[in-house]
Order: sequence, then C-alpha cells, then structure tokens
Amino acid sequence: TNACLGAIDAADALGAFVHKTPDIALERAQAADARIKAGDAPAMCGIPIGIKDLFCTEGVPSQAASRILQGFLPQYESTVSAQLRDAGAVMLGKLNMDEFAMGSSNETSTYGNAVNPWKTDERSLTPGGSSGGSAAAVAADLCLGATGTDTGGSIRQPAAFTGIVGIKPTYGRCSRWGVVAFASSLDQAGPMTRTVRDAAIMLGAMSGHDARDSTSANLPVPDFEAALSGDIRGKKIGIPREYRMDGMSNEIDKLWQDGTAMLRDAGAEIVDISLPHTKYALPAYYVIAPAEASSNLARYDGVRYGHRATLSAGDGITEMYEKTRAEGFGAEVQRRIMIGTYVLSAGFYDAYYNRARRVRTLIKRDFEQAFEAGVDAILTPTTPSAAFGLGEMANADPVEMYLNDVFTVTVNLAGLPGISVPTGLDKSGLPLGLQLIGRPWAEADLLNTAYVLE
Ligand code: GLN
Repeated sequence: TNACLGAIDAADALGAFVHKTPDIALERAQAADARIKAGDAPAMCGIPIGIKDLFCTEGVPSQAASRILQGFLPQYESTVSAQLRDAGAVMLGKLNMDEFAMGSSNETSTYGNAVNPWKTDERSLTPGGSSGGSAAAVAADLCLGATGTDTGGSIRQPAAFTGIVGIKPTYGRCSRWGVVAFASSLDQAGPMTRTVRDAAIMLGAMSGHDARDSTSANLPVPDFEAALSGDIRGKKIGIPREYRMDGMSNEIDKLWQDGTAMLRDAGAEIVDISLPHTKYALPAYYVIAPAEASSNLARYDGVRYGHRATLSAGDGITEMYEKTRAEGFGAEVQRRIMIGTYVLSAGFYDAYYNRARRVRTLIKRDFEQAFEAGVDAILTPTTPSAAFGLGEMANADPVEMYLNDVFTVTVNLAGLPGISVPTGLDKSGLPLGLQLIGRPWAEADLLNTAYVLE
C-alpha cells in the first residue's frame, strides 16, 4: 500500500486518481495485516485497488467526474466497493473517467483527461474511456486492480488501449446498487487488472446477489480462479463474419487471425458464424443509452445533490434548474440528454426508441442462435485501432468517437459477458486487445479461454 501511494503521488501527471484516500488505505492495510497474522485472510486481503469515481464511497467524494456532483459525499457505500472492502481490498482513491461514463477517451471528465502510460515519440495518447483512469492506473502499476463500469465498452476499450485485462460480466452478475446510473439496462461493473488470474479473483469478490438491485441475479458465484485450467480442448469458438468491417486495418486483421490460431492450437474448434444484425447495434445503442440517461439524469436538479448555480434576484425554481443543469453538465452529457428526450418524446417514441428496442431483441437473438448451435465463445477485436492521440477527436463529428464502440456495444445490448485480453502490439508498439464474448453466466469458461490467449 505504501509503495502504491508513493507511485500515485509520483504519477500525478497521468491524472488517473482524482481523489486520493491515503488515510483509509493505511487503516485498511493495517487491518489486512492483522487478518493475515491471525490466519484469516480473505481473497483480496491487503490488495491495493482504485475505485472508479462512478461508485458511491461512503464519506469520500463521488462525482462521476461531473461538475454537477461537486461536493457530493455519499452516506453509503456501493455494494461492489463494500464487497471488495469486506474481501480485504485496500482502497487507494477514486479514479478518473468520462463524465457520467459517457465517452471513449476520458476527455469529457470535469477533471480533465487521464493520460495513457503508453506513448509514442510524437504524441500523448488517450487511455480510452469511460474507465480511462482505471486503465491508466492499472497499466502504470499505481494499483493492482481497479473497478470499471461498462455500458457500451467502457471496461473493454480502455483495457485494450492500455494493454491490460478487463471483463464486463453478464448483466446482473454484479450489483448496480450505489453505482451512479448511466443506462440502467446496460450498465455493469467489472474488474480491470494486469492478468486474467487477477481478473478472476477480483470478479469473484465483486459478484453476487444483492436484494437492493432488482436486476441482480440470484445465482451462485463460481470459483473463477479455479476454472483457469488452460484446457479448452473441444470448445467451439465462433468467428463472426459481420465483425470483419470494411476498411479494417491489416494489423487488427492479423491480430484476430493470430488469436484464432492460438485457440486452434490449444485444441479449440474454430467455426465461422453469422450475427446478421451487428450493423444495427451502434445506432440502436446510441438511441437506447441516451434515452435511459436522459431519464436517470433528471434527478440532478440542484436540490438533491452537489452543485447549485448562483442565482440572480427574481430567479425562480425553473431558472434554478436551468442554470444549474446548464453549468453542471458538460457538452457531451447535454448532447445525450437532448438525444434521449427527443427519442422518448411523444411522436418519436415509436420511430426511434421502440424500434431500437426491437433491434436490440434481434441482436440478442443472433447471439442465442450461435450459442444454440454449440458455440461456446466468440472471438473479435476489442477496438478498430490502437489508442488515438489526446485532442485528436476534439473537432470531429461526435459520431467518429461513437464508432470506437462498434465491437463492444453488441455485448451490452445482449447482456452477455465480454472480456478484453491484451494480445499484441501495433506497428508503433502500442497495445491491441482481442475480445471474447461468452454465454450468459459463463464467466468462468470465458476467463479460462482468455487465459489461453494471454
Ligand atoms: N463509449 C460509450 C459511450 O460513450 C460507452 C460508455 C460506457 O460503456 N460507459 O456511451
């Protein structure tokens, strides 16, 4: 813990931690020492970790990297961070992210972006988003693991950009209680770590039923670490032809082929599959996620949480709402709220929101058909490219940024588990990741397949 706290202080320029909690860390580390001495060490005893700023942590600032939550001190702890604490993990502080987890580069954060510890000679790179601080912190060895959340790729894309492992579990595996809501039907928490084994251990501590989240599954949590045998003989791995996008770079194509060969060499059977509705996933996601966000973010009214605008004489409650929300939310969040209220409005609801929901069902069915045909897991690239430069997208059409999520959003729409594993480098020496998508609740199997790719 002391080594990590020192490393964090020395790495302020990375912008990974937005709030440090050294007092809490040292207290928990001492408690962990005592438990180890007493021979009563749980799974994560004494392991220093970071917590994404989206998780409510009791008495510790939890702002979702938004100005509108400035000064908000939760009176309760999220279920996931409480479970990690109870498993002995040591919280070092809160990690940077895109505002309300909306973004793919960490540049929508009110704190400014975190920086990817990997760089090229000419440019500084994004760590990805929205869990960019988590990815940067783990990749730079500031902590041994971090929590992330993934609504459309926010664990897997930053993991791929920084050369680490990130798993989004099946929807319902980890409780969403105390996690600031973005799009409730898509949001899932998960671990970000250096290795697949670490991910297995940390996911075990984060998982489980929680009566306070009605979508949390009442299922036993397998021993994920014990599943890491490295034996995948006879497993059927699907390669979906629709993910071979026009204009896919040779590097990504080669990475994908190399990964396929590794799994084949380990005894898996490789099959071509079709997921025909893939091309509609991104548009459906960018209707459904903003729709849910616009509803979830209605609660930030200047009364119940955090920031309130300074008012002028004569301002009433409407001006208070308007001014608070106008200065409290950043541009990307305001864009999502506007898209969301538009697609939900009377007159457009059927044309956009309901249609997107029907497309979502078709996407889910594509996966179900592949699994019914005996496929155990699906292999795809995690991202269309390696990390891009900070500021490079600043003047681009926002849709350019959304295209980053093309391989990851399908998994959230279908509620499936997905993992990104670092499997290679591009020509400038930057990390690239492959994604494995599994059957519902088959994280143990998925982690074991990822273990072979690592
Ligand atoms: N980049 C996607 C978005 O901006 C995904 C974000 C996420 O998974 N939280 O919506």
